[in-house]
Amino acid sequence: KKIIIAIDGFSSTGKSTLAKQLAKHLGYVFIDTGAMYRAIAFFSMQKGYINNDFFDKESLIKSLPTIRLQFKFNAELGFAEMYLNGENVEKQIRSFEVSGFVSKVAEITEVRTKLVEQQQEMGKDKGIVMDGRDIGTVVFPEAELKIFMTASAQTRAQRRYDELLQKGDTVTFEEVFNNVVERDYIDTHRSNSPLAKADDAVEIDNSNLTRAEQFDLVLEVVNE
Ligand code: C5P
Repeated sequence: KKIIIAIDGFSSTGKSTLAKQLAKHLGYVFIDTGAMYRAIAFFSMQKGYINNDFFDKESLIKSLPTIRLQFKFNAELGFAEMYLNGENVEKQIRSFEVSGFVSKVAEITEVRTKLVEQQQEMGKDKGIVMDGRDIGTVVFPEAELKIFMTASAQTRAQRRYDELLQKGDTVTFEEVFNNVVERDYIDTHRSNSPLAKADDAVEIDNSNLTRAEQFDLVLEVVNE
C-alpha cells in the first residue's frame, strides 16, 4: 500500500537528499516544496518586486494567479526540475540571492495557500515523498510517516557552503552561516505555518551521520 512520507526540518539538513533516496528506493514521486517557494522568490526578483531594500508584497499577491509552477522529471538527473511559466529555473532558484529572499516570500499567506493547495493535489494518489517545512503539520497532517530533520547550524552551513563553492558561487562561509541562522529564525517565527515538528514525527539529528547511515536509519523506520 502506497503511503505519504512527509519530511520537514531546518534548512540544509539534507531533507532533499534523503527524500530523493527514499523516493528512488520505494518507486515514489519526490517533491521538493522549497523549490516552489524559491520559484516564487525568483519570480519576484525578476519582476522587481523584491530587492535588498524593499518588497512590494501587493504586486506579488496580485500576480500570483499568473504564476504556473510545474515539476518535470529529468531522467538524466533522476529528479524533477522546477519550471516557472514554462521555463526551466532549476539553476536560478538555487542561487544564494534567491536564498536571501525566499523566507520573506514564504511568509505571505496568499503564497502559502496557493502552494499548499497545489502540493495537496500532487499527493492525492499517495506514493509520494515530500520535503519542506510544514508538510507533516499543514499539507499532509494525515501522512503515514513523518520525519523531522535537524543538525547543528555549523554542520548545515558547512554543507551548504561546500555545495555553493562547487557551483562556483563566491560567497563566504560567514555569509552562508548567517543566511542559515536567519532563515531558521524567520521560518520558526512567522505567523503562518511556522516550522515545527509534528507531534507524531520521528526526529533525526544528522550532525554526525553520513548519508548512508542516515538512510539505513530511516529505512528501519519505514519498514516498521
Ligand atoms: O527547502 P529550502 O531550503 O529550499 O526552502 C527554501 C525556503 O522556502 C525555506 O527557508 C522556507 O522559508 C520556505 N519553505 C516553506 N515551506 C515549505 C518549504 C520551504 O516556507 N514547505
